[in-house]
Amino acid sequence: MPVTKQELSYIINELAEEREHYYNAVSAPIIQTSNFVFNKVSDLSKAFEDEMSDYLYSRGLNPTVEILRKKLAALDGAEDCLVFNSGASAIFAGVLANVKAGDHIVSVKSPYTWAAKMFDVILPRFGVTTTYIDGTKVENWEKASQSNTSLYYLESPNSWDFALQDIKAVSILAKAKGIITFIDNSYCTPLYQDVIEMGIDLAMQTATKYISGHSDTLGGVLCGSKIMIKKIFDSEYLNTGSGIQPFNAWLLIRGLRTLPARLDRITHSTSEVLKFLKNHPKIERVIFPFDESFPQYELAKEQMKNACGLMTIVLKAKKRESIVRFCESLKHIMMAVSWGGHESLAIPKCAGIPEAEFNAEDPEHRYVRIYIGLEEPAYLVNDLQQALAQVS
Ligand SMILES: *Cc1c(COP(=O)(O)O)cnc(C)c1O
Repeated sequence: MPVTKQELSYIINELAEEREHYYNAVSAPIIQTSNFVFNKVSDLSKAFEDEMSDYLYSRGLNPTVEILRKKLAALDGAEDCLVFNSGASAIFAGVLANVKAGDHIVSVKSPYTWAAKMFDVILPRFGVTTTYIDGTKVENWEKASQSNTSLYYLESPNSWDFALQDIKAVSILAKAKGIITFIDNSYCTPLYQDVIEMGIDLAMQTATKYISGHSDTLGGVLCGSKIMIKKIFDSEYLNTGSGIQPFNAWLLIRGLRTLPARLDRITHSTSEVLKFLKNHPKIERVIFPFDESFPQYELAKEQMKNACGLMTIVLKAKKRESIVRFCESLKHIMMAVSWGGHESLAIPKCAGIPEAEFNAEDPEHRYVRIYIGLEEPAYLVNDLQQALAQVS
């Protein structure tokens, strides 16, 4: 069930916090331990048998991480959850757990970089192949499916061009074929998109971005059914030891406290900055899912509660140098990867394209992704204005 605003307040401030066990402290304790003491051999045997049943060793369960796990599962409306030390490791574990040699994956084209590297470099070594499709059309999922397809990999919206998939329709198709659905829900977070409710089996999000909110820790989340999460815990989670560490879990609990307030603020500021950018003579197009010009605007409105933070501008630049000048002229908006923190950011697509291959005719080469943080919108607009004056 989707979480109501009142439930959201409860989840963030109270759920899973048994304060009577730690001196009624408001802030959760950081249980910085690797192992836990047992008094009885029989209890030890039970924990060996099922490491998800008790605190044994912090590569498995840890009390600080437990608080975070329960909150994140509730936010996603999921039965259970695992928290990893990065979004990339959550993707890796979630996909690996659901494929075997000879299997086939259908994925949206241009998924997150490290998902693509896993599909292109690692999984083929184990006989798992991937077909990339234009995921915006439901029929493409059907067409690309084979008898050995075991996983559909979605990312909606994509974090550069914000291409969407019809999540409900793709989930229904997958269920009919017995295929597991995995989605990267990082752009929306569970606050802006209920992917479990829409039928997705495994909901992933990076916690490095909006949940942390302060650009000071990495983290990744996988939510799903109890059975699915247990399967991943017993195998990929324990085997790769990629669970989040207690201190980082604590930082994410802290980030969660202000997540709704930050998203509200960012949503408002994003629309202010968007208004300015949309009509700027140096900008060919602004790509943003909740803008009427967005090709899948109707679908965005239907399946997302809101959109915020990230937008891509297509500069009217004739040369690579003028994109470089724009980015290097920004005084307050910093040039860095990632997003979701307090600080506004810009990143040009051309930084990842060999200089000799730059083609100004290709709008994608002229993409600059802008992330709107917590600063005053006017402060950001002024900065963009002076940097856009450098574009020729
Ligand atoms: C950042 C990001 C990830 C990976 O998360 P990390 O925490 O950096 O490993 C995955 N998907 C998307 C869309 C991202 O932006």
